Amino acid sequence: MHRDLVIIGGGPAGLAAAIKAREEGIDDILVIERDIELGGILKQCIHNGFGLHIFGEQLTGPEYAQKFIDKLLELGIEYKCDTMVLNITDNKKVTAVNTKDGVIEIQAKAIILSMGCRERPRGALNIPGSRPAGIFTAGTAQRFVNMEGYKIGEKIVILGSGDIGLIMARRLTLEGSQVKMVLEIMPYSSGLKRNIMQCLDDFGIPLLLNHTVVKIHGKERVGGVTIAKVDANRKPIPETFRYVECDTLLLSVGLIPENELSKNAGIVLDKVTGGPRVNESMETSVEGIFACGNVVQVHDLVDNVTKESYLAGLGAAKYIKGTAGNGGREIETYGRNGVRYVVPQKIRLDDMGDEVNLFLRVDNIYKDVYLSVSDGGKTIYKVKKRIVAPGEMESVRLKKDSILNMENDKLFVELIR
Ligand SMILES: Cc1cc2nc3c(=O)[nH]c(=O)nc-3n(C[C@H](O)[C@H](O)[C@H](O)COP(=O)(O)OP(=O)(O)OC[C@H]3O[C@@H](n4cnc5c(N)ncnc54)[C@H](O)[C@@H]3O)c2cc1C
Repeated sequence: MHRDLVIIGGGPAGLAAAIKAREEGIDDILVIERDIELGGILKQCIHNGFGLHIFGEQLTGPEYAQKFIDKLLELGIEYKCDTMVLNITDNKKVTAVNTKDGVIEIQAKAIILSMGCRERPRGALNIPGSRPAGIFTAGTAQRFVNMEGYKIGEKIVILGSGDIGLIMARRLTLEGSQVKMVLEIMPYSSGLKRNIMQCLDDFGIPLLLNHTVVKIHGKERVGGVTIAKVDANRKPIPETFRYVECDTLLLSVGLIPENELSKNAGIVLDKVTGGPRVNESMETSVEGIFACGNVVQVHDLVDNVTKESYLAGLGAAKYIKGTAGNGGREIETYGRNGVRYVVPQKIRLDDMGDEVNLFLRVDNIYKDVYLSVSDGGKTIYKVKKRIVAPGEMESVRLKKDSILNMENDKLFVELIR
């Protein structure tokens, strides 16, 4: 089978990329989704807060996704659900499988990777103890509660204060469970401030910073956990060990981009984000393979996923039509002095539009700093930030004019006191 564009993953990233590519004149598009329906993670995010930037209104996750699914259907874009992509090659051959067609081989002109991310499980933490029932990742619990209609436990401890953990603390409380506490090993939460207020403070759920779980108790079912305060090196302090009775432990300890397919195709991954390194058009290191959404970097707001995915759809369309620029001068972006990473990692001046959005995350909480972009000498952009935190992705919009006259080909994004 041949296709102009194959999009892997039918979450918000894949849907937006497909719609943009079609609007840019690509007719022959196939979206492949391993789940039984389109929409990605948003189907299980039934709280509101989605779409404020893109639609100027508060939507739930399913409502946000549905707007894109409706558009996809209206544009007649082909998709296959319940179909898992097993492999891609650097010459853009896609191997997928489903129960109806069996193994499918597709030669694509371009590919967009939009497989999202996965949650870090218990095994990644090495918490001692037996293997009782009652240990869930927060996203799995979200699916069970919001989509399958189960109650997952009565007395719950949550480890990790990322947004998904915070949102599930509220959700489980509303479902009648007792959320005893949320533990966070770092001295700060990695969730959005508004989620700490609306999901913990409003329900009187304590957030214990500098704390972790050191042991899980129980044979058939979790009976409790031992928690501890950690020192500056994140090592548990024995004098602070405390037993907390609970029947459920929820892990919300980070997301990792789904990068197996990218690795198979020899795509260069970024050591910090874990996703493919991309340029201003969201093209990876393999020509004609683009990436967008959580597979590139973990986003806190789906609106940013959509914007990034429009770029990937546009880039792929130009590539297929042969109208992409010739690259021209290339500038690499780097984070330093408190900035952990910057996406995109490369900007090609001939291919960028009038401006480029740089997305970045910082490595700690900093107050009263300047977020600065420079070429190592000349400052191109500088903005005062009252507070920046690892849980909140920052972005910088740079005009093309401001980078045209840079002296070297490196762009440094950093925090200055
Ligand atoms: C548990 C969880 C809860 C979240 N809650 C929120 C929230 O409340 N608000 C918010 O703004 N953001 C939330 N996020 C972040 C959220 O992931 C993004 O906002 C958005 O859903 C990312 O879109 P995406 O399309 O990149 O990824 P996803 O929505 O994850 O979509 C990726 C899709 O790719 C499919 N896929 C993966 N591999 C393959 C393959 N090999 N073959 C075929 N299909 C494949 C998956 O089945 C999935 O449908 C949450 C993330 C997670 C993991």
